This record gives sequence, structure tokens and C-alpha cells, in this order.
Amino acid sequence: MNDIVPPPATLRVNLDSNALAANWRHLDSMSAPGRAGAAVKADCYGLGVDRCVPVLRKAGARDFFVAHWSEVADVARHVPAASISVLHGPISAAEAEYARAIGARPIINSLHQARVWAAAGGGPCDVMVDSGINRLGLSMEDLSDPLVAELEINTLMSHLASADEQSPDNHRQLVQFRRARSMVKADRYSLANSAGIAIGQDYVFDLTRPGLALYGGVPRPELTAQIRQVAYPQAALLLRRDLKPGDKVGYNGTYTADHVMPSGIVSIGYADGFLRSRGGEALAHDGRVLPLIGKVSMDMVVVDLTNAPDLQEGDWLDIPFDLPGAAQRCGLSQYELLTGIGHRLR
Ligand SMILES: *Cc1c(COP(=O)(O)O)cnc(C)c1O
Repeated sequence: MNDIVPPPATLRVNLDSNALAANWRHLDSMSAPGRAGAAVKADCYGLGVDRCVPVLRKAGARDFFVAHWSEVADVARHVPAASISVLHGPISAAEAEYARAIGARPIINSLHQARVWAAAGGGPCDVMVDSGINRLGLSMEDLSDPLVAELEINTLMSHLASADEQSPDNHRQLVQFRRARSMVKADRYSLANSAGIAIGQDYVFDLTRPGLALYGGVPRPELTAQIRQVAYPQAALLLRRDLKPGDKVGYNGTYTADHVMPSGIVSIGYADGFLRSRGGEALAHDGRVLPLIGKVSMDMVVVDLTNAPDLQEGDWLDIPFDLPGAAQRCGLSQYELLTGIGHRLR
């Protein structure tokens, strides 16, 4: 049975590896005199570790960030485990032992995690300090705890809450992080995500941690000109149908044709991350606009083929995925659009 090969899928994401590499290099140059790492959590924001991590490594990335311990092994197939940091840190002895066995660095987020790490035998780690997001990270007060002085700290980091906005909170967090840097001895210091890099040189320190912008997201206007689209999803036309006046389309018949009109059933739905909030959008073929009609179903959508009556079953249609534009049109964040890409597309 194992050698029965399934036919090609009817939906796919084309990845522009050159754009991914160029985005990393651009963010790296903006991170000077520091360097850019790469956030590769959530399967490279939905685009696939196996496709993206080798490209990032070849472009020059040497520091990789995942959220879960379960994500380490997949990334470690492409880069040394010692270059992988785990954002959630070790909450149990089992996680600390796994970190030591595989050789990835835990990011210590609390005194509890510092104890867990020390009890497992310790070793090189990173430390997250909370400078105002009130999420993961040691508090400023925790930093003077003797447990922290005993850690072997590679990178002291913090995370900005509102880097994608012009907010006074950014400067407040910068001031807190500078204070933390004066209190904690580490080999390197790191504050900025993609948007933080764009705020300005004060924010880059030794290492930055871009994610979104690597994959084509544009969190701040300063990045618009340089960041290129990386992911180009496409779905195949499954069937053509000529609608007559009065024909209703899809669940609950929310669209009624008022003239004779060619329609196309397309192989992408909300199970593929194409959520109903994208219902006002249009697919495209060779630049020709194909408006969606009716509701998005789990596995398909219906488009008006008036602008491309020549299309046949099996032809590929473009799913709009310029992230800033698509996010604005459908009310999802650029992060949600990327990480929502379903498994059937990969
Ligand atoms: C996800 C994450 C990043 C990457 O952020 P982007 O906004 O995607 O660039 C950086 N640092 C931490 C701590 C993160 O959780």
C-alpha cells in the first residue's frame, strides 16, 4: 500500500525563498551593529520549518526561536540544537531534562523555572525579563534574586508589547530593559521583534528576533518598501457552473444571481485558514479579479467567473495574500492570516 502515490493536491502555497532570504538580510542589516535571529515558532508561522529554516540558515541566521519543546526536534534537523531557544522555558523536570539531552537553550521566565533548570543540572540558558507586557518573564524585582546570579546566561531578553504602534510604552520598556541590562550579566542582550527593529537603533542591542516580517508581514510602515511577499497560496478550480437569474449560492443562499453568470467552485475553505471573515475578498487569475459569492464553506468557495470565462477545471487561482492588505480587508491580524494556513496547503 505504501507505494501508492496520491495525486497532486488541489491547493498549495508557493514559497518565494529569495524573498524570505532577502527579508532576513534586510532585517539583519537594520539590526546592525547587532545581528538578526529568526522566530521560527508555529512551523515558521505556518509556512513550514522544512522549507524556511534552511533558507534562513543559508542567508546567515544563527539564532532560532520556538515556543514549545515539541518544536525543537523539527528545527534541529536543519540547525545545531545549541542555536535554538525555547520561549516557554522549562516548567517541569521533564522539560529541563529534555533541554539538556537535546542541547537547546531554555528561556527562563520565572524563579520557578530558574529552580527547575538548576535542579536538572543547569547549563547555558537565556533569561526573559518582563519590561511591561505582563506575560512571560521574570519581574524586575526577581532579577536581584540569588537564583538569577547563578544562571549561565547567554542572552537576556525582553519583549515589546506595542512595537507596531507609535506608543510611549515602547520607550518605557526600553528604559526598563536598559535597567535590567545593568543588573544582569549576559553574553548578549535582545529586545526587538520585527516591529521593534523598525522603531530605531536604540532598540536593536546585540540580537533581534524578527518573525512576522521574515514571512512577508509588515507591522510598521518603515518596513513597507523593503519587505517582500513570501507566501503565494493557490487553489484549483474544481467545477464550473452557469448560474441563472434567481439561483442561490452556498449555505443559507446568501447570494442570488440576478443574471446569467459563469461561476467556479474552488478548492479552498475555512479548514484551510480561509475564514469567513475573508468573504468580501476576491480571488484572481492572471490579474483578472474573481469576486467571491456566497458563504465560505469548509472545503470550498464559489467565485464569479465573469472576468475569466475561459477557465477550466484544474486551473490554478491565486488567493490574495499580501499580508498588510489582506489583514486590513478582513479584520484578522497578519499573524493570524499566516499561522491560520491549514495543513492541507503545505
Ligand atoms: C513571536 C516572538 C517574536 C517574533 O515577533 P514578530 O512580531 O513576529 O517579529 C520575538 N520575540 C518573542 C518573545 C516572541 O514571542
